[in-house]
Amino acid sequence: MIPNNTILTDDFGRKHNYLRISLIEKCNLRCTYCMPAEGIALTPKKELMTADEVFAIAQTFVNNGVNKIRLTGGEPLLRKDFPEIIEKLSQLETEISITTNGILIDKHLEVLKQFKVKNINLSLDTLVATKFNTITLRNQFEKVIDNLHLLLNNDFKVKVNVVLIKGFNDNEIVDFINLTESLPISIRFIEFMPFAGNEWDRSKMISQKQILDQINTHFSEENLEKLEDEQHFTAREFKINNFLGSFGIISSITNPFCDGCNRIRLTANGKIKNCLFSNIETDILTPYRNGAPIETVISNAIKSKKKVRAGMTTLEDVDNPVLNQDNRSMIAIGG
Ligand code: SAM
Ligand code: SF4
Repeated sequence: MIPNNTILTDDFGRKHNYLRISLIEKCNLRCTYCMPAEGIALTPKKELMTADEVFAIAQTFVNNGVNKIRLTGGEPLLRKDFPEIIEKLSQLETEISITTNGILIDKHLEVLKQFKVKNINLSLDTLVATKFNTITLRNQFEKVIDNLHLLLNNDFKVKVNVVLIKGFNDNEIVDFINLTESLPISIRFIEFMPFAGNEWDRSKMISQKQILDQINTHFSEENLEKLEDEQHFTAREFKINNFLGSFGIISSITNPFCDGCNRIRLTANGKIKNCLFSNIETDILTPYRNGAPIETVISNAIKSKKKVRAGMTTLEDVDNPVLNQDNRSMIAIGG
């Protein structure tokens, strides 16, 4: 029976059935678009959700209509108790997926298989080893590639997240799509987004239109097939005729998909963020630890969600550093 999920419905009638939980603020990479050069002040461990707290809070969401949970971070697989968290969450009636940089996939492969985590989003911004070192500040390219193949050989459904940055990897769009000729993966090109400390400006971003122009020029329009978008899509999906895989474009800046948004975020220190771009956070861990019912807290957080991008309705708003820097760094939100 579908539970009463009114607490997860916002003032615009959007029902939120998709919870993204950040498990950790730490990472084994230093992607320059995500982690500020000076690092971030880490939350003291006692203020982070334990495995039991992740489970209990997730259970409240599931009891109120969430049927999809994605674990993210920081790097979620860095959490020493990752197997315990997955085991607990697998008791809930919900699909579980993860977003990972892929480095620790081999270490956790059996746990992922055992608890039926089938959908993995793996981040990989370049197919050139030296460029990987430049963007992540770490030398782990081969490991990530090996683990991508390990996932595919074990029948995981893999989406590869590529954040496009002008002058860095916009010349690799076609190379990424060519991977889909023989690999059953979905490449997701992501418009570079502004977060605290990531030195974003719009001139560094490659827009949905620029991506599609490049693709049309190379593959020609008649070879490009528009696929049906998923319900509550964030990526507009396409494929090249006769290629095994597909690709999508996540255009949060130039063509946002807020109307169908069904996502809520929970940070590693137990704060609800009702939108990726919002600087408003609702503490849910403290009331939970105090033994207070958290449904009303959740309900108020959802109800205060703005219609579009946390109130940044225009591109001028997005460009405004006063607005776009007044947020956490992405590493501490969980994308
Ligand atoms: N460490 C994991 C990973 O890299 O997949 C999970 C956390 S990471 C914050 C989640 C996703 O956010 C990654 O796919 C990453 O590329 C994306 N991301 C980080 N910073 C971004 C930015 N400034 N703009 C767009 N996407 C970003
Ligand atoms: Fe780490 Fe993922 Fe951020 Fe890269 S994008 S620094 S891998 S959290």
